[in-house]
Amino acid sequence: MNIIAQTPRLNDPVEQGIAATLDDFVALRHDLHRYPELAFQERRTSKIIASHLTSWGYDVAAGIAGTGLVATLKGGTGDRRIGIRADIDALPIEEATGLAYASSNPGVMHACGHDGHTSILLAAARYLAESGTFSGTLHLIFQPAEEIGAGARKMISEGLFERFPVDAVFGLHNWPAVPAGQFGFVTGPAMASVDQAKIRIVGKGGHGAEPHRAVDPVLASASFITALQSVVSRNVDPQDMAVATVGSIHAGSASNVIPESVELKLTMRAFTESVRQQLQQRIPALARAQAESFGAFADVDYRLGFPALINHRDETEFARKVALDTFGPARVEEGFKPRTASEDFAFMLQAKPGSYLFVGNGETAPLHSAHYDFNDAIIAPAARYWVRLVEAFLN
Ligand SMILES: [Zn+2]
Ligand SMILES: [Zn+2]
Repeated sequence: MNIIAQTPRLNDPVEQGIAATLDDFVALRHDLHRYPELAFQERRTSKIIASHLTSWGYDVAAGIAGTGLVATLKGGTGDRRIGIRADIDALPIEEATGLAYASSNPGVMHACGHDGHTSILLAAARYLAESGTFSGTLHLIFQPAEEIGAGARKMISEGLFERFPVDAVFGLHNWPAVPAGQFGFVTGPAMASVDQAKIRIVGKGGHGAEPHRAVDPVLASASFITALQSVVSRNVDPQDMAVATVGSIHAGSASNVIPESVELKLTMRAFTESVRQQLQQRIPALARAQAESFGAFADVDYRLGFPALINHRDETEFARKVALDTFGPARVEEGFKPRTASEDFAFMLQAKPGSYLFVGNGETAPLHSAHYDFNDAIIAPAARYWVRLVEAFLN
């Protein structure tokens, strides 16, 4: 579906207003794409965002979590307050798109569409400032370092919601392989938690010809990896989702030497805190017990990453209704499924009610691919959606 090619309905002032400035925001998106910046280094990006918002009349508070900022605009006499968040960071990937506006920063790339999310929110910000069609307080949150997960948490720990109180907070992500401009909503768990473990199984090295004089950590780790499959299949409730993946295993360097130790790296995903805790308890216990049964021992370093992203029911229903009212039912995906990827907006939804929604990016390369590009055709509908959401929330 090519949204740009659709004839605008002339009776919708938001659609017309967004269309009138669209070229500027496509150009801005390409500029951000050309100069991507990694987590907490988004200085140029942050400056550009702040200067636009200031010129449109927003109060800009910069330097929150380093390169993060919040832009505030009050309208009318309403006392409701809404937060909308866009992420601004890029990834350590060498771009392979060959686009005219491809990254000029070697090894850094906007491969997750945060250049698009930023442009969408700025397009909506400009319209809202010029039209003044809301009554209440609007806080636009531009967050650094989503990809490494520290940005949302850091903004919150630096007083984000004390300085800029909101009744609800919303965010969106583009999603490849969903038709461009289709909206997806999920109530409850929408994206998974992500945790990591580094496990070192330590035995006693020796000669490959004399295993009886050694304690073989390779055998112990093989047994652990097999036993690990039972955590998802035998411990976790079959109705719940859990993933435990061994993504890396390293030991030894010669065929005739029993190594001293084996190092494994794991990633775990879950949709609920109880399953997450179950994995956190069961996996280290299993690693230790399996190692011990071979006379070895296991050192486990289990690190919690982001929690699962849990959308609040009322705010998600509200967000869905805005999409239905704005675009009609054909543009809202029925039964949109939770995703097993992760997102640090989860921290904001632990602090405040709100919802995280998805906008189809069309048939593009997947997120985090060196061939991915954000689809400019979704800037207009997504910006229009933010405007409608703010107008509906603040009236
Ligand atoms: Zn990403
Ligand atoms: Zn992303």
